[in-house]
Amino acid sequence: MKLDYIVVGLGLAGLAFIEELIAANKSFLVYEDNSQTSSLVAGGVYNPVILKRYSPVWNVKEQLAVALPFYERLEKKFDTTFDHKFAIKKAFKSIQDQNNWFSAFDKPNVAPFLDATLDNQPYAGVIGDHSFGNVKEGGRIDTHLLVETYRNYLEENRWIRFEKFNHKDISFENDTVRYQALEASKIVFSEGFGLKENPYFNYLPLEEVKGETITIYAPGLDIDFLLKSTLFVMPIGNHLYKVGATFNHADKTSVPSTEGRDELVDKLKKVLDTPFQIVAQAAGIRPAVKDRRPMVGIHTQFKNLVVLNGLGTRGVMISPTIAKNLFHHLEVGEPLDPEIDIKRFDKK
Ligand SMILES: Cc1cc2nc3c(=O)[nH]c(=O)nc-3n(C[C@H](O)[C@H](O)[C@H](O)COP(=O)(O)OP(=O)(O)OC[C@H]3O[C@@H](n4cnc5c(N)ncnc54)[C@H](O)[C@@H]3O)c2cc1C
Repeated sequence: MKLDYIVVGLGLAGLAFIEELIAANKSFLVYEDNSQTSSLVAGGVYNPVILKRYSPVWNVKEQLAVALPFYERLEKKFDTTFDHKFAIKKAFKSIQDQNNWFSAFDKPNVAPFLDATLDNQPYAGVIGDHSFGNVKEGGRIDTHLLVETYRNYLEENRWIRFEKFNHKDISFENDTVRYQALEASKIVFSEGFGLKENPYFNYLPLEEVKGETITIYAPGLDIDFLLKSTLFVMPIGNHLYKVGATFNHADKTSVPSTEGRDELVDKLKKVLDTPFQIVAQAAGIRPAVKDRRPMVGIHTQFKNLVVLNGLGTRGVMISPTIAKNLFHHLEVGEPLDPEIDIKRFDKK
């Protein structure tokens, strides 16, 4: 079988790239072996401001301008709601923290997303010594539902094989690349942390940052916004709240841990004054990069091999923009944004 593309990995990165392929009528086949869980367990939050330092998210306006219509199109395509818009309320830790919020109004890429009026209202179940700052234009993509829906759609169209892609079965012939009985123009690797097992791209400086979340049932808590403190507490309906996330640089497994759960519970007890019950726990590895930029581009030696990775902590906002840039780069030679191009890791 001769294909335009083989795509390895169906998380947020693979999904955004496949949407480009479908829109352009390209032939393709996806491999997915369920070895990584990041996109399935993600909070799915898109927040235009880094609330720790009130600094702007990289290319925030450009990314939102591509990402929000992208998810809207997917909602129409599947007649399903993925995008849940809500206010994000930052609980101030101190007066200094609150002052920093107001200083951020001098930052042109931050100010449009901050509300100048503070919220001093008490909320049932939330410890009452906070004022809140409102962040505008935030929300959550239900990434679990989105990825599962997309996998079913690919399966119905016979565009996906649920099996491990074995890099050792790649060979090269003239202008094409072979994989087992398949021949393709290009293979795009969107493997998340699975990149570590890819002999063609594992030279790239991918860093593991394991994240864990818990889901709690808290009947005494009644908030319809995302509460951001030392962790986030996010309503997902029926008095259920997703709480997260941890950042662990040592553990390379996607297995939920006692340490992760205890850390979240300890922090949560400083935020909530109402009983809660843990009903679920999940873990995944964020594919992070030290310079906090994605890693995208064509292999220097093997021109049929392409990488789309390094989404870090913000896959929801970043993936549609970089997948589009990559697709146009491959198809019509549009330059890759130098900030995401893997050429930055070439030996000088
Ligand atoms: C706890 C947690 C909370 C998070 N919260 C947020 C959030 O609120 N907002 C946000 O924007 N981001 C969040 N993130 C980050 C986000 O999840 C990632 O940026 C994003 O999911 C990465 O997507 P990806 O497609 O690159 O990787 P992945 O989701 O890991 O997808 C890669 C896929 O490739 C498959 N694969 C790998 N190797 C092979 C192979 N050899 N053969 C076949 N298949 C293979 C894997 O099984 C996997 O499905 C969070 C992450 C975690 C862990």
